[in-house]
Amino acid sequence: MSVLQISIEGRPYTPQRIFCIGKNYDEHVKELGSTAPEEPVVFMKPVCNIVTPGETLSMPRHGSLLHHEVEVVLLIGGEGQDVPEANALSYIAGITLGLDLTLRDVQGRLKKAGLPWELSKAFEQSAPLGHFKAYDSNTIELENLLFTCSVNGDLRQQGNTRDMLFPVRNLIHRLSGWWTLRPGDIIFTGTPSGVGPLMPGDQVDIDSSVIGRFSWTLSR
Ligand code: MG
Repeated sequence: MSVLQISIEGRPYTPQRIFCIGKNYDEHVKELGSTAPEEPVVFMKPVCNIVTPGETLSMPRHGSLLHHEVEVVLLIGGEGQDVPEANALSYIAGITLGLDLTLRDVQGRLKKAGLPWELSKAFEQSAPLGHFKAYDSNTIELENLLFTCSVNGDLRQQGNTRDMLFPVRNLIHRLSGWWTLRPGDIIFTGTPSGVGPLMPGDQVDIDSSVIGRFSWTLSR
């Protein structure tokens, strides 16, 4: 795809990085048979893997277990280093939902071998992403936000951001200690429990009454 431009209230953003947080909901950590991390698990996806709503998804060819992971996704609006938790939310320009698509079989193999996750997390079309809406702390209760993922109309995942092991303000604080956050940075904040496989022909809907509803279909 071409260079991605996002506009929030007339201000343009050109994302160059996607940060993703792993293991950020206890019930999801448990369903993976894992243990809660002591600090956020961070990995990245290339921006060119973003798939906008309505685009058709193709099954990757190098794995067989393609899992949906619905996540609340943030767009950073300001540059910041060592951002204090107290004003971390003021760095958020936009909010949406996305899918951190994961080849679970490949990830299992990589984890066992102690190898990086890119083959299982950063493949083509691995980042379906909804349209951002402006983040307004008066109308969006970011730390008590309900969101869902359905496949062919069946509810598979239902999460609430209040259950995050590392809440959003803490994620921004910690990420900005490791990197200088910049306008246009995108953060996938982790998935709740209920992850599961997608099959050719499936329709995936991700939804939050506050953010919106976005859909994708897998090719047959
Ligand atoms: Mg995830």
